[in-house]
Amino acid sequence: MTKTPVPRKPESLDQDQFLTILSREDALARFEAALFPRELKGEARKLADAVGSALSEDVVAPIDVPPFDRSNVDGFAVRSADLAAASEATPVRLRLNDEVIACGVAPARPVLSGTATSIATGGPLPRGADAVVMVEHTQPSGSRAIDIRRAASPGQFVSYAGSDIARGEALLRAGTVVGSREIGMLAASGIAEVMVARKPRVAVLSTGDELVQPGEVLRPAAIYDTNGAIVTAAINENGGEAHFHGAIADDEAALEAAMRKALAESNMLVLSGGTSKGAGDVSHRIIARLGKPGIIAHGVALKPGKPLCLAVCDGKPVIILPGFPTSAMFTFHDMIVPVLRRMAGLPPRSDAKVSARVPVRIASELGRTEFVMVSLVEGVDGLIAYPTGKGSGAITSFAQADGFLKIDALADQIPANTQAEVTLFTPHVRVPDLVIVGSHCTGLDLVTAPMARAGLAVRSIAVGSLGGLAAAKRGECDLAPIHLFDDKSEIYNTPFLSEGLELVPGWRRMQGIVFRQGDARFEGKTAQEAARSALADPACIMVNRNQGAGTRILIDRLLGEARPDGYWNQPRSHNAVAAAVAQHRADWGMTIAPVAHASGLGFIPLAEEHYDFALVKTRKQRAAVQAFLDALASEASRAALTEAGFRPA
Ligand code: AMP
Ligand code: MG
Repeated sequence: MTKTPVPRKPESLDQDQFLTILSREDALARFEAALFPRELKGEARKLADAVGSALSEDVVAPIDVPPFDRSNVDGFAVRSADLAAASEATPVRLRLNDEVIACGVAPARPVLSGTATSIATGGPLPRGADAVVMVEHTQPSGSRAIDIRRAASPGQFVSYAGSDIARGEALLRAGTVVGSREIGMLAASGIAEVMVARKPRVAVLSTGDELVQPGEVLRPAAIYDTNGAIVTAAINENGGEAHFHGAIADDEAALEAAMRKALAESNMLVLSGGTSKGAGDVSHRIIARLGKPGIIAHGVALKPGKPLCLAVCDGKPVIILPGFPTSAMFTFHDMIVPVLRRMAGLPPRSDAKVSARVPVRIASELGRTEFVMVSLVEGVDGLIAYPTGKGSGAITSFAQADGFLKIDALADQIPANTQAEVTLFTPHVRVPDLVIVGSHCTGLDLVTAPMARAGLAVRSIAVGSLGGLAAAKRGECDLAPIHLFDDKSEIYNTPFLSEGLELVPGWRRMQGIVFRQGDARFEGKTAQEAARSALADPACIMVNRNQGAGTRILIDRLLGEARPDGYWNQPRSHNAVAAAVAQHRADWGMTIAPVAHASGLGFIPLAEEHYDFALVKTRKQRAAVQAFLDALASEASRAALTEAGFRPA
């Protein structure tokens, strides 16, 4: 057993948490041992309502399918012995019985030697007949007889009773998940209702003073409740019946009341948030009062996901997932899904896996099982897996990722170029037709939109200009969007290209000073005047950009030696600058016009930034790359870019 004692810190004196961090395997084993074996409750369901549920009992076939010997073709039921001597030269003539056996018609007359009965596909074989001759292999001889010029083997074109499903055979085993194929077998056997495992009723609660439900107005400093929706969906995907109880404020009494109520009406309770340090984090204390044995693991050596708390209260699992949505999702899938599926009578989840090369080194913390989201790209020698994680707070990484890598607790890294196993989020991975890695711009979506409508899969991975250039140099993408300013030559982008890359001009983005409309310090001024007026007011706060950004060079030129308040606030994106000004955290900064306008801010134009593409020459002839170049040059794209505030090059 791996136990890592963690010293108490002064700020967590009132919290007896993280005292013992369990390994992922130990935590799961203890959790399962406290919950299983347990009785699986079954309930009868109509076929249509059983889809997705697991059978709780074996189903035995009550009848033979087909229930009688039946014809597979349109033709004539015969005695094969009558046709033993039939050939091209010596046809055999059979008299027709006065009967036509259609589907659903029970035959009334026997087929005696020397006779045949007309029979349709699906018709029951009459007494005496042991084969069927296709109508194409016969010639009428008057209206009462047929001639046959080939022999028939016994059983020819006949499906025997029970050949599909035999009465008394185990049709479906307990644990089978009912899908359309199973429904088909059950319906063919005449079964209208099956016993399925009762879906565990799972209560979902989010915790945090800051949470607002999607659809409601976001108040200042609040965020949308993401986990409530994620966890509810993941429970329903894995055999549970989720009931969302909303987000509860970090108030011990209110939270305890909500938890008690939710647990009383459910078989399982899943909370999120409130497990990291902070005065408001109280849910783990409440759990200790909810039932025996209580907390099984609080702190698991997972990354992301260390603050996971697993408990069992009077036989019911109670879980607190970490607050960060990606952490919540990984811990849920890794640690909770196995338990939920067992409670739902479902087999363990079978995730599809592929092998892929990891082009860059990934450092990992020793002692924690680490999950790293990756996005898959087709390389020359097979799949390449790119890490896409932006840190445990980012939800968009999920949308870009195709799956994840698991780094063993005992490994401190995955070296560059390791061949690794990727667990896919969806079983059918679609490797994108076009891969764009670099700096993201909303204009890019306008250019690729028609490609997506034409059925091409375009993947854009935002790693910044320099990250994109590095990927392009390694040949791991088709195009790298960049906006890099060379201070010496005062030229954008071209000086940064190396062997094997060529520049495809993209568009220009007007950069300038952004401020709140009506601010007299900036309104109606030139950029230089605005900067002077900002510097003259000691209460005026700016927001800067990161070193290396083209925008930063413009700001530094404008400021000269001055270092006004806010200079060291250096976010990495145009959007963060606009947000800081819009939210009054700063009074001015520099961003691009479309971003300023989208935030309803005032804007003073200063200089154009060049947003171009480094194209990997060896990939230029690929159909998707050509489609992109066509889209970029098209009148429609140019018009859309212009409309959005960009200037096509
Ligand atoms: P906590 O464990 O409550 O301290 O939460 C850790 C982080 O996750 C904080 O930034 C929370 O705002 C965030 N968080 C907690 N619950 C949710 C939720 N339901 N949806 C989105 N973010 C959340
Ligand atoms: Mg919280």
